[in-house]
Amino acid sequence: MTGRTVAIFSLGGTIAMTTDPAAGGVVPALSAHDLLAAVPALTSTGIELRVHDFRRLPGASLGFEDLAALGTAITEAVDSGCDGVVVTQGTDTIEETAYLLDLLHDRDQPIVVTGAMRNQTLPGADGPANLYAAVLAAAGEELRGAGVVVVLGDEIHAARAVRKTHSTSPAAFASPSTGPLGHLYEGRVRLAGPLAGRIAVAGPINDVAVRVGLYTATLGDDGKLLAGMAEHCDGLVVAAFGVGHVPQDLVSVLDKAAAEMPVILTSRIGNGPVLQQTYSFPGSEKDLLSRGLISGGSLDPYKARLLLHVLLSQGRGTNEIAAAFATAGA
Ligand code: ASP
Repeated sequence: MTGRTVAIFSLGGTIAMTTDPAAGGVVPALSAHDLLAAVPALTSTGIELRVHDFRRLPGASLGFEDLAALGTAITEAVDSGCDGVVVTQGTDTIEETAYLLDLLHDRDQPIVVTGAMRNQTLPGADGPANLYAAVLAAAGEELRGAGVVVVLGDEIHAARAVRKTHSTSPAAFASPSTGPLGHLYEGRVRLAGPLAGRIAVAGPINDVAVRVGLYTATLGDDGKLLAGMAEHCDGLVVAAFGVGHVPQDLVSVLDKAAAEMPVILTSRIGNGPVLQQTYSFPGSEKDLLSRGLISGGSLDPYKARLLLHVLLSQGRGTNEIAAAFATAGA
C-alpha cells in the first residue's frame, strides 16, 4: 500500500494503558508512538503514518470538547492529503464517539475507530492486532464514503449500528440490528454488501449550554424523577420499553416536556425500531407520538442523544430535528 497515507489520533483507553505501580492498576500512559511500536508489521505495508498523540484519557472521561477538537483535527488531516484516519480510544465510549464523529464527518476518507479489550500487560492483548487492522482498513479504497466505522476483532461495524455488547470479551462489539458491514481477511477489507446511507450534520457541537437528558423507562416508575430531570434539559431522549412504551404515570410528564422541548422516543432494547401505529394504550408509542414526541426510529438511545445534542448545538428548530431523525432513524 505504498503511496497511501493514514493519520493516527490516539486518545487513551485500554489500548494505551499500562501498569501504574503507585495506583496499583492500569492507566492510560502510552503514546501513539508506543502503540505503533507494538505493531512492527505496519512498517512493511508501505503506508505513511502521520501520528497525533491527541489525548491520554479513559474512554469515560472524553467529552464534547475533546470530540469537537478531534473532528476539526481530522478534517485538517484529510484535507491535507491523508487517505484515511485511525482513532484509538477507550472501548467504553466507542459506540458514542464513533457516531458523534460520523455525524460531523462530511468527507469521503474513512475514519476507523479502534481500541482494545485487553491491556498490553495481559496475555492475548488485542490492541496491536486491532491497530494493524484499523490502519489497513483506513488506507484502502473499500471504505471510501463509509463515514466512521469501528474495527475490532477483524470485524467492521458502521458507527450508526455498533454496540459494546460485553464488558470484558475481546468479541465485545456487534451491530445487533444489521450485522457487521464486513470483515478483514488477510489484511483486506471484504464488505458484506453495499454501504448504507448515513447523515452528516457537520457543524459546531460544543455549545456547552446544551443539555440533553437520557431517561430510561423502568418498572413501576411514577414519573417524579423524570419531571425533575426535565426541568434541567433542553432536549430529552426517552429509552422506552420494547417498541416505545412507558408506564402510564409518565405520560403527563412527557406530554408537558414535549410542549417545551424536543423529546425523542427510542427503545431501551438497542435492537430494532420503535413502532408508530400498533399500540394505543396510554403510554404506548401511538399515544406518545400523538403528544408530540419525535420517533428515533431504529437509533438506539445513546446515539439519539448525540444526534439531538448536535442539532440543538446548531440551533435547529423542531421541524429540522424531526426531519433529521426521520432520516437518521430509518
Ligand atoms: N475498558 C475500557 C477500554 O476497553 C477503558 C476505557 O474505555 O478507557 O478501553
